[in-house]
Parts: sequence; structure tokens; C-alpha cells
Amino acid sequence: MSFSNEIRDELCRLQRRRSCCDTAEAYGILAFANRFSADAIRISSEHEGFVRRARDLFLSVVGVEFEIVSGDRWRLELHDRDAIAKVFSYFGYDTEHHVTMHFHGWFVEEDCCMAAFLRGAFLCAGVCADPAKSYHLELSSPRGAFLREFLIRASELSFTLRLSRRQNGFMLYLKESEQIEDFLTYIGASAAAMRLMEQKVFKDYRNRINRRSNCEFSNIRRTIDAAEAQTEAILRLAERGELQDLPEALRNTADIRIAFPDLSLAELCDKFDPPVSKSCLNHRLRKLSALAKEKEEE
Ligand SMILES: [Zn+2]
Repeated sequence: MSFSNEIRDELCRLQRRRSCCDTAEAYGILAFANRFSADAIRISSEHEGFVRRARDLFLSVVGVEFEIVSGDRWRLELHDRDAIAKVFSYFGYDTEHHVTMHFHGWFVEEDCCMAAFLRGAFLCAGVCADPAKSYHLELSSPRGAFLREFLIRASELSFTLRLSRRQNGFMLYLKESEQIEDFLTYIGASAAAMRLMEQKVFKDYRNRINRRSNCEFSNIRRTIDAAEAQTEAILRLAERGELQDLPEALRNTADIRIAFPDLSLAELCDKFDPPVSKSCLNHRLRKLSALAKEKEEE
């Protein structure tokens, strides 16, 4: 099941408690409905629970019964003109002069109602990406003017919804994990918010581990590459018979490098008797490499 529908499942399990919030939730659904016009109201969804909740909501708030139609998607429809007019007038609209749907702020004056309005909006038109993959939450609606007016009221919320135009309408969206968490908690999906938080902790932890092991890996790679280059230089000197003419310190260094090809510089230092310093060893190995190169370039 998609994360969006997990959220819907959780929201549909919420008890309806106050009539003011029922009205606000129904209003949120209407504002994000596929169609809200004088000849038809249509809400389409893949979530059966939501469609049933919405029908009950409109029945108890406005007293009209939408028809549920099943198919590829679930649809909640109203075609009866008188019933549509009743819905319009309940929410302060007029079927005779309906052009642009404006936002009626008096339905969301209380904080509980604002939360219910956004819950209705998410149930109807919300998409939330799986937090294991990315952070994105959006609410799409064909009603741009409505969304712009709504955003003025929504500026007091703890999350900042942004408006964007898309091909067939508009959307409000959130991109940051904390904002999405706040939104989900606010509309009553606290289990989903918790899952998002857990995913984030898990992802951060995994990234940290990956960064560390990448870093460790590249250190090991560097050590191996350096040891290989040094060994190669020493073998070239040996091949050309130049090794035995070198000072004892260099001969000794060459022997020990060949004897322990996997050791890092620091580890190699301990193989000397008496041990040598890292910078001294480094100096000698550079000298050997330089000598091997020198002769080749002549
Ligand atoms: Zn309320």
C-alpha cells in the first residue's frame, strides 16, 4: 500500500467528535474535489474508506446523500440540482452566480477546524511520497484563487505550504521532512508522522555509516596503491642490479618493504630494529622510487 493510503487509513479511523470540525472536513473535501459546479459534484479516489467517510460526512453535515460509484477508482457523485444547490448554499456559494470558488475563512476559524479542513483536503487530494525514498507532500486542486486566499489564512500554521501551478491546475506542497511531519501530526496522522521520523533517523544513520566506510575504504586503497608503487620501484632496482650498491639503510628498507607488502607506513616502521620514524621511512621509500625512476629517464 502507498504511504498516501496508509495516511488515509489512519485518518479514516479518527473518530468524528465535533460538528464544527465535520463541517470543516467536508469543506476541505469540496475545495479539493475534482468537480464542484452547479450541475455536478464529483470526488474521485482510489481509497474506499475515504469515499465512505465523505458520504457519511456530507449526509450528517448538509443532509444530502452522495452516490458511491465503484470502478477503476471510487467516485462520490451528486447530480441532483436541488441537492447540489443545498451543498452550495450550506458552504456560502450560489449555483446561479458560481464562477470562481472563493475561500470562506469562517469555516476554519478554530484551530481544530483548520486541522479538519486540511484533513479533508489530504483525504481527497493528498499525495505523500514514501519517506524511505523522498520528502514530498502535495494537495492538488483545480481552484487557484481559492488556494491563494487559503494560504493567507494558512500563514499562521507551523508549516509553510507553497503554491505551484501544474498542468491541470494547482497544488500546495511541502518538501522538508520536518514540515511534512508537522503537517501529518496536525491533521491527526501521528502514526504516519512517527514513521516518517523513524525513516529519517534510519536514513541519517545509514548515510553516516556509508560516509565512514567510504572514507575508510579510500584510506585502505591509498595505502595499497602506495605500497604497490614502492614495491615495483624496488623490484626494478633489483632487476637492474643496483640494489646491492645502495647504502645499507636503503637496502634494509627495500628488504623490509618487499617482506611486508601489505603494511601501511606506520606499521612498517615497527619492523625495523631499532624502529624508525614515519618521516624517515617515508624519506627512504621516496629515495628508492626516485632512484628507480632516475635511471629509466636517462
Ligand atoms: Zn472544530
